[in-house]
Amino acid sequence: MMLAYMDHAAAAAEPDAGAEPAVAAVDAAECAAAMDFGGLVSARPAAVVRPASADDVASAIRAAARTAHLTVAARGNGHSVAGQAMARGGLVLDMRALPRRMQLVVAPSGEKFADVPGGALWEEVLHWAVSKHGLAPASWTDYLRLTVGGTLSNGGVSGQSFRYGPQVSNVAQLEVVTGDGECHVCSRSADPDLFFAVLGGLGQFGVITRARIPLSPAPQTVRWMRVVYASFADYAADAEWLVTRPPHEAFDYVEGFAFVRSDDPVNGWPTVPIPDGAHFDASLLPANAGPVLYCLEVALYQPGGGDGGGDDMDKRVGEMMRQLKYVRGLEFAAGVGYVDFLSRVNRVEDEARRNGSWAAPHPWLNLFISSRDIAAFDRAVLNGMLADGVDGPMLIYPMLKSNLPPMWDPATSVALPEGEIFYLVALLRFCRPYPGGGPPVDELVAQNNAIIDACRSNGYDYKIYFPSYHAQSDWSRHFGAKWSRFVDRKARYDPLAILAPGQNIFARTP
Ligand code: FAD
Repeated sequence: MMLAYMDHAAAAAEPDAGAEPAVAAVDAAECAAAMDFGGLVSARPAAVVRPASADDVASAIRAAARTAHLTVAARGNGHSVAGQAMARGGLVLDMRALPRRMQLVVAPSGEKFADVPGGALWEEVLHWAVSKHGLAPASWTDYLRLTVGGTLSNGGVSGQSFRYGPQVSNVAQLEVVTGDGECHVCSRSADPDLFFAVLGGLGQFGVITRARIPLSPAPQTVRWMRVVYASFADYAADAEWLVTRPPHEAFDYVEGFAFVRSDDPVNGWPTVPIPDGAHFDASLLPANAGPVLYCLEVALYQPGGGDGGGDDMDKRVGEMMRQLKYVRGLEFAAGVGYVDFLSRVNRVEDEARRNGSWAAPHPWLNLFISSRDIAAFDRAVLNGMLADGVDGPMLIYPMLKSNLPPMWDPATSVALPEGEIFYLVALLRFCRPYPGGGPPVDELVAQNNAIIDACRSNGYDYKIYFPSYHAQSDWSRHFGAKWSRFVDRKARYDPLAILAPGQNIFARTP
């Protein structure tokens, strides 16, 4: 059954109320769908629809299509930062309402998959797959309280991406309701154009109601290590060396972040040590260290089933670590369970909820920057504009475009830099509520814009990950050579431009 909370204006606009769900007025302030994690923009929908099935999603889209103006936004967990999952005066589909049914699928070849609803959190997929079947997907985001449909509409990256590909490369099949209200099952071989359009498609071509995710035996434990660099050149050279090693000689996870050379608990070296309580001996830093330092973070999985592979793992870790040029003495290591490792950001969330920064605005900026330009970016931005930090993590780590399967498939809608090796740079500002906690949010947004301007004016090979543009000329530049295909796909799958209006790419056709 589908329930909707609809204000009177929307109810009046509804042309076929008999076939549609019950409606009730709701106060805008109570409407979570008018807000998101970013806390920077707000757009009140006419109604929030709670679909119980793909048919309910299709009914809502068809109802919107019968009007001259209604749009439809799928909302995953609302963790966008610029209103991307909102629909001003339109319908918001609360994808979390889809029943949380997950199913193990075994192919004749023996390959195993999870069939999961588009509104499932990755955390739910992890717990179900590990506890029920001892299996797990290979590719994750750092934070798992994001929905399957939400990350597949963007990319889905983390320290596993260099080796296992992003989440958009780890899907076997999708069930998608397109902008004409039709439900399709698509894959690399069945309706591949729709399949690839939707992956990284910013919600523009269809609503993902189900995804089939490949599974492998879940590792049992993880060796998790962090080492510190004073030189960006050494940090980047080592990180790129690690992500270009053959799989059997590589870590399973390579990430890293920049931090400030100070004892500040949010921006400085206290953010580095693992496990909790380990000591960071700052006297080991070279005298010529600059204001910004770097922490390379790696992990190697250990299989379950009694085969820890201990000696081999020791050898592999030892061989790789020995060759790295980090500051000796500034190395940290912890052995943790696989689920604990993947859930590591939950502790950040708990702390941020306690200190109020989870509910405060998040003017985040995520960029993909080609390896060619990352040193210049580090000099101009991290060591220049952001030398005091951003009151949150400044992730900076490389991944590969295409040298290993599963790669970033150019058939998807994701826009990437030209370079074969590119870095994720994530400026994840956790500001306390203003006043009292930090600078006003407008200043931080202005600083983000200045960083983007610097990337553009310096001619860096970059793309914004989770872009928020308002002019179609900006979208055209963002997609570059992929823009005309993006426009064609929009005309094919959502000709009235009903879907995902919060991305501000296409205007609804009456
Ligand atoms: P929403 O924000 O609800 O939606 C995002 C977009 O996708 C909207 O346009 C929406 O309309 C569309 N959409 C949502 N569901 C569907 C669906 N079922 N079908 C079609 N379209 C849909 N990203 C990474 O890649 N790696 C990370 O490590 C990472 N960590 C994060 C940590 C935090 C704390 C936060 C807040 C975000 C993080 N992100 C990360 C970003 C995250 O991937 C995006 O915010 C993404 O939008 C997923 O969030 P969501 O599921 O809440 O989707």
